[in-house]
Amino acid sequence: MVDIKQLFQTCFEQKRNTLTEYESKLVLQQIGIPVTKQELVDANEAAVLAAAKKIGYPVVAKLMVEDISHKSDVGAVKLNLKGDDDLKKALKELLAIKTSSTSPKVSVQEMAAPPITEVIIGMTTDPQFGPALMFGIGGILVELMKDVSFRIAPVSRFDCEEMIREIKGFPLLDGFRGKKKANIQKIVDAIMVVSKFVLDFPEVQEMDLNPVFAYENAILAVDARIVLRTHA
Ligand code: ADP
Ligand code: MG
Repeated sequence: MVDIKQLFQTCFEQKRNTLTEYESKLVLQQIGIPVTKQELVDANEAAVLAAAKKIGYPVVAKLMVEDISHKSDVGAVKLNLKGDDDLKKALKELLAIKTSSTSPKVSVQEMAAPPITEVIIGMTTDPQFGPALMFGIGGILVELMKDVSFRIAPVSRFDCEEMIREIKGFPLLDGFRGKKKANIQKIVDAIMVVSKFVLDFPEVQEMDLNPVFAYENAILAVDARIVLRTHA
């Protein structure tokens, strides 16, 4: 269990306002949003192999350094590693990535099963209205089509259902072309949790759960980023 106040305090003391994916997922786990199993270890062979043993193959290995937040842009996400050899090769590639960090870490995670659809749940702070919650379909659709919906926090379950149903990509969650239907209530639960969290912690400026894997009976956050307000 992580002490959220303490974690934020540590970030402020280190003069950084973006939590790593690993830290952001610790927070999500604490507030009740399902995240992938994860182990944070030093970027060396013995440590990552031990972490993978704990998690169980196949695993994902991601470079966790404070100066890289769009990880796949620089090759810092290695998916579907099936055994020690795959992981060793991935580690070499992760270590070749340019970073200003002097003590790079690796997050070894479970490889999540393919979802029905990837979704995005987020929060941005509106200068006038304060925290605004965001929902969208993940992947190319959200980037290309800006297919997202917003509501000012706090939201009701009804608001969350509307947010989900009003996006153009909703059929992707609703059994499009014979696919299974995603569990909308679990997505509603997660938006409700984020809504309460951002009101309880006004130091949070922005957050992104991108993507969240939506399944028939569950959701799972596979990437997350929390950004704190910078102190005046
Ligand atoms: P980025 O920082 O570039 O957004 P992500 O952590 O989101 O990196 O990883 C990129 C993509 O890899 C995700 O959108 C998702 O499709 C896939 N992915 C990431 N982590 C996992 C995981 N643990 N299991 C399965 N797929 C994953
Ligand atoms: Mg991502």
